[in-house]
Amino acid sequence: MGSESNMVHSPMVTYASMLSLLSLCPPFVILLWYTMVHADGSAMQTWNNLREQGLQGFVNIWPKPTATAWKIIACYAAFEAALQIFLPGKRVEGPISPAGNRPVYKANGVLAYAVTLTTYIGFWWFKIFEPSLVYDHLGEIFSALIFGSFVFCILLYIKGQIAPSSSDSGSSGNIVIDFYWGMELYPRIGKNFDIKVFTNCRFGMMSWAVLAVTYCIKQYETYGRLADSMLVNTILMLVYVTKFFWWEAGYWNTMDIAHDRAGFYICWGCLVWVPSVYTSPGMYLVNHPIDLGIQLALYILVAGILCIYINYDCDRQRQEFRRTNGKCLVWGKAPSKIVASYTTSTGETKTSLLLTSGWWGLARHFHYVPEILGAFFWTLPALFGHFLPYFYVVFLTILLFDRAKRDDDRCRSKYGKYWKLYCEKVPSKIVPGIY
Ligand code: NDP
Repeated sequence: MGSESNMVHSPMVTYASMLSLLSLCPPFVILLWYTMVHADGSAMQTWNNLREQGLQGFVNIWPKPTATAWKIIACYAAFEAALQIFLPGKRVEGPISPAGNRPVYKANGVLAYAVTLTTYIGFWWFKIFEPSLVYDHLGEIFSALIFGSFVFCILLYIKGQIAPSSSDSGSSGNIVIDFYWGMELYPRIGKNFDIKVFTNCRFGMMSWAVLAVTYCIKQYETYGRLADSMLVNTILMLVYVTKFFWWEAGYWNTMDIAHDRAGFYICWGCLVWVPSVYTSPGMYLVNHPIDLGIQLALYILVAGILCIYINYDCDRQRQEFRRTNGKCLVWGKAPSKIVASYTTSTGETKTSLLLTSGWWGLARHFHYVPEILGAFFWTLPALFGHFLPYFYVVFLTILLFDRAKRDDDRCRSKYGKYWKLYCEKVPSKIVPGIY
């Protein structure tokens, strides 16, 4: 029987990844934006533009966070926070935490998503707000997000030190690790405003949909038409984000929420990396109205939707199986399973069911395959003129392979011999028969 611990990378890897996140990610966000918006999506052109002036050239292209950028971010954040607080939603219980708590949420994500997109598109339609303004100030917005989110993470660290919201908190004894991985699992403002739901879902994931629509509108206003490549890219990204909000309560059971604490790694990532890097294929397409032709556009669209559906179905299958305590059908049959017991950090013995059939019988993290392929298909409309639009797919592949390792390590330490049994029954980690 294993005991659940806060398994993360070794301090050495944590220091290295924190240093690189801190030092490389912010300039990368700016370089990515600059290349997509001002250098035709060509990393070579950016290199040539900057080479002669060196560091000073880079300093020159880094936009200062302007008042307009701060206003856009503040209005958006306040609007999303208000929707999170005031929209009605079903009461949903999250999974039991390592300290034995059960967080409670209000499931109003679909409504917040619908209200956000309707308001945004409505404001554009009735000329109340011009989304092109967001695109035109994108560099300043990313710059403001980089600094603002860093300050936000410092505040999270201080809150974790002096006013933690629950017993799922505490220091590792190392300030760097505490700041990087976070102090609290479920930080809240008051009793109900969940900070991770805000940063990950309502700010980060919502910004993905809002920016996808922004890019579409910008291309339409610049060229007087919408290329089929942009349409396919936007539809697929919106299908993905719609799926996310449809399944948001399920997301509250995943590693991001149930295991990763609210620190720099997850919060800065959701506040900065999601709006900039995750939306980057669309950012590229704004100035590249590529015509795919109806047939190719449809093939890509169908393949992308299929991948997003399979990814959704993997998550749904696991959650349905857990929700019904294994009393459900998986691919038309009674599921095969392992009853795994473990000990919580308070010493209580509990059991979980591990599904070993359906998608979860193909590989232990098969759901990452359609996730990566889905991202590939919404990037494919950019064709192969430049590498940079594919950066997200490459990044996602590395992230998910690392995540599979982290999850395996955590589950091995939590379930011990039961996880070993699962690995014997389902030997592949991600790609059936290959890896
Ligand atoms: P999940 O949290 O959904 O699944 C892993 C957890 O499920 C494990 O920690 C374990 O938790 C439980 N589990 C593992 N194996 C089994 C099994 N056989 N039967 C039942 N339960 C099991 O994983 P992720 O959070 O990584 O992924 C969730 C979704 O988010 C996926 O669709 C993924 O593709 C997507 N994602 C997208 C990312 C992006 O940046 N685009 C990044 C990460 C994920 P327990 O302790 O409860 O047993």
